[in-house]
Amino acid sequence: MKKWIVLTLICTLLLMPAAWAEEDNEGTVIVIDDWTATEDAAPEASTEEDPFVPDTVDRAVFNADGRVTVFNPAAYPYSAIAYMDIVGTCGDHWSGTGFMVGKNRLLTASHCLVCSDHSAWAKTIDFYFGYKSRRNYLYRYSGRWTAWAGNLFKDRSYTTQNDFGCIMLKKNVGDTTGWLGAYWNRPDSAIESDYLYVAGYRDGMLKYDSGWAKVLDDTHMSYTIDAVAGNSGGPVFTRDNYCVGIHIAESKRFNIGYRLTSAVKRNLDNLK
Ligand SMILES: [Zn+2]
Repeated sequence: MKKWIVLTLICTLLLMPAAWAEEDNEGTVIVIDDWTATEDAAPEASTEEDPFVPDTVDRAVFNADGRVTVFNPAAYPYSAIAYMDIVGTCGDHWSGTGFMVGKNRLLTASHCLVCSDHSAWAKTIDFYFGYKSRRNYLYRYSGRWTAWAGNLFKDRSYTTQNDFGCIMLKKNVGDTTGWLGAYWNRPDSAIESDYLYVAGYRDGMLKYDSGWAKVLDDTHMSYTIDAVAGNSGGPVFTRDNYCVGIHIAESKRFNIGYRLTSAVKRNLDNLK
């Protein structure tokens, strides 16, 4: 009799890793070569959506001077920003930033979803919110996801064109983390008169800086708000927590954000 109990125990222990693996963090990146082709059958973009702060999270107080490390990333609005721990189909491991813009939707930079060395797309992603370490975070989502991303690095080259990624999670994570509001199709003059924040994770640490932006063209804005590689995919947002862009690139002269165009909105809405 005892033997059977021991055997059952061993079997249970053996089965446990398999059971964990079932709640896996694998997802699918659907690569869009031509975003304009997704325009039909698309809902009209609304111009504004409100932020959401759960009762369970604290609210952060902003500091306006210089680059600041966020010591309480679990406080809103930082709670809505994800540290994405990514493994590609090539086996390489990298990280990026994304942010909630609804109950189960995130925005990021498209290039956060691809290994530039091998043009290999993300295969598994762990989304950590309010991340301080692997054992200290507000919330971790490691379930299924689907993403739409532009076909960057196709010819081993990168352009900032269409460098936005839309991700849908299979769970309403936003109810716990909160989400940023969004100003879709923000007019040029409004973008240039907003005082803006850019936040992102690098090496597992969340930082932000603030300042003013200039419009580059219909889809891009530039700013000298400090940012470093790894912050890519982080939000460019207003003091009242509405995002107006996605941080996508750094250069010596200025940094670049992707504007929240109707194309971004449509593709985010169309994810199923
Ligand atoms: Zn790779």
